[in-house]
Amino acid sequence: MKTLWNKEGLFSKKAFGLLGVIGLLGVAACSVNPATGDRQFTALLPADREAAIGAQEHAKVEATFGKFMTGPISDYVSRVGAKVAANTERSDVQYKFFVIDSPIVNAFAVPGGYIYVSRGLLNLANTEAELAGVLAHEVGHITARHAAERDSQGFVVGLGAAIIGAAANAPGVSQAAGLGSELYIKSYSRGQEHESDYLGVRYLARAGYDPMAMADFLRSLDAQTKLDARLAGKKTGEGANYFSTHPVTADRVIQATQKAQQVSVERPIVRRDEFLQQINGLVYGDSADQGFIRGNKFYHTALGFTFTMPQAARMVNSPTAVNTQHPNGTIIVFDMGKDQSNSDPLSYIKNVWLRNKDVANGESITVNGMRGATAAFTGTIQGKAATIRLVAIEWRPGEFFRFQMAIPKNVSSAFMDELKTTTYSFRRLSESEKQSIQPKKIRLVTARSGDSVASLAAQMDVDELKEDQFKVLNGLIGNTQIISGRLYKIISD
Ligand SMILES: [Zn+2]
Repeated sequence: MKTLWNKEGLFSKKAFGLLGVIGLLGVAACSVNPATGDRQFTALLPADREAAIGAQEHAKVEATFGKFMTGPISDYVSRVGAKVAANTERSDVQYKFFVIDSPIVNAFAVPGGYIYVSRGLLNLANTEAELAGVLAHEVGHITARHAAERDSQGFVVGLGAAIIGAAANAPGVSQAAGLGSELYIKSYSRGQEHESDYLGVRYLARAGYDPMAMADFLRSLDAQTKLDARLAGKKTGEGANYFSTHPVTADRVIQATQKAQQVSVERPIVRRDEFLQQINGLVYGDSADQGFIRGNKFYHTALGFTFTMPQAARMVNSPTAVNTQHPNGTIIVFDMGKDQSNSDPLSYIKNVWLRNKDVANGESITVNGMRGATAAFTGTIQGKAATIRLVAIEWRPGEFFRFQMAIPKNVSSAFMDELKTTTYSFRRLSESEKQSIQPKKIRLVTARSGDSVASLAAQMDVDELKEDQFKVLNGLIGNTQIISGRLYKIISD
């Protein structure tokens, strides 16, 4: 969850409508794409129109992920990006590169030359050439105009309506539920992926980078995805990750390798140490601005609060909410709400959140010294009857932290008590707590003679699968030999 308040109506119908119109106008056009040599019947937008759409989509990306990262890491990504984008077939596009402050491994592009990589992707890459490969692939999507070949739904869209809101039949809840504001980026087709790999290898080679780096990074991604599947409860790899936007088929690594073998680059640039120095100290996982999940507790040190979820509940942190699911089917959305009228918590629930829906059993409560209120009514989860319980806790006048709980009818009374505990666990963090709870970071270690995967992995500040996590983080796939004097990444406090 980011330190920004819900932006309701972010993914407005209006924006999609505009894209739709532009798409339709362009249908009749047909021209040869200079990058792919293909005749394209789809909307070949004039560059200024493409730039305008790009700016609109870019604003959506920023509104969803919060501020882009700035400083040396962002400058570095822009420098590498500028190198691979220098010699494309489309000089009408101004390429711009951004680092999203997200632990999810992802990269994507929107029309107009906007290219994004996540902090999670930088954590995973091992060389400048691999980063260049990712950026070159995204540039390929833009030069091949893959975005323009899509339908008019918009490039960046919100996931479907909130489960709880729809279930509760309460428009206010539906609007506010964090599940509805997740960012979803449409995936490319298999053919488009191969085309972008092909173009990416071309741009890598033109910039003097090792063209094999693309395949190397795809292998790391594949390994990370498999590892994530084993690390239950870890949110990287969930939601809009790299593979959801860029589907990877088994043959993609092989084909990327074959394409790379067809181009020759004299003394290819790899820049492993330079890249690792750039990401040394970069946050791994959630940042202070996003809040941390530690066991069944959530800590937001930037905003200064914490709460505890029932045992066995699984939390997923997203930019706008913390979404929790319990094996018994209960769904809990934690987010923030604002109210200009400065009403008390109970009036806020009734008049603002529920938009004047009548709730008979609303009551005022006090949560660790803060004014709060709660109300419950009957709704459904996926067609089954459920209790919808809402809790609003006043953080500052006009600002509320909120739990929305959709609880199946058959849960135990012990579990109901746990939910009550969750409500009353919400509290402010002390200054010393804020200091002691810190994000994890990437640190570099130099291997000494006699070091092994086991000895280096032992320094990793992770709870499980240390060696596997170390191997994937360092691209040690197949060959796991540790070389003395070489830099390796570890995850550390
Ligand atoms: Zn792609």
